[in-house]
Amino acid sequence: MSITEKAFCSDKGDCIICNSKTSYFFSKKYPAYPGWPFADELKVAYWKCEHCGFVISRTHQEMAPADWAALNASWHHLAENDAEPSLTNQPPYADQALALAILEKNNVVSLNNTLDYAAGYGTLSRFLSKYFNKNIAMYDRYVRSDSPDLHYVSDSELGKYQLVINSAMFEHVLDRSALDVKTGLVIYAFNE
Ligand SMILES: [Zn+2]
Repeated sequence: MSITEKAFCSDKGDCIICNSKTSYFFSKKYPAYPGWPFADELKVAYWKCEHCGFVISRTHQEMAPADWAALNASWHHLAENDAEPSLTNQPPYADQALALAILEKNNVVSLNNTLDYAAGYGTLSRFLSKYFNKNIAMYDRYVRSDSPDLHYVSDSELGKYQLVINSAMFEHVLDRSALDVKTGLVIYAFNE
């Protein structure tokens, strides 16, 4: 049974949010692009939690780790280097940078101890640096820019941060631990 077929009939895999049962919801076909790591288009099965409604791709959950890493690297390389995906599928980085600057100006957040988690090639950080003179730390497991003015931290350097920003990671989440690792980086001041 192929990975695609398995994802359509597998009833294992409870909801990663509330542990309730999930059921098949819908499917979507993803066409190949330059650098695509698979032989053909990918038909992806999405499953939905019967209790809380959370939806997740079972196809990606069941993918071999090497295929998953190749998919992440190839898509983000394409998105950052080709004009069309950059214009159609990127988070609104400029708006996010402006929103963060406004929040800081009004003392809602501080950008002095901030991490952009799953920062990719650092586009949000570039906006913050160029237009608002703010430099934040970045972490990304899969891709990294060679630009020397960006501050990436490694796994061993990850600490605790007053603010952890996350622009486009949920589509990469395969299990609950990925969310728990990220929230574990936040300093919860209200508990003190
Ligand atoms: Zn649920």
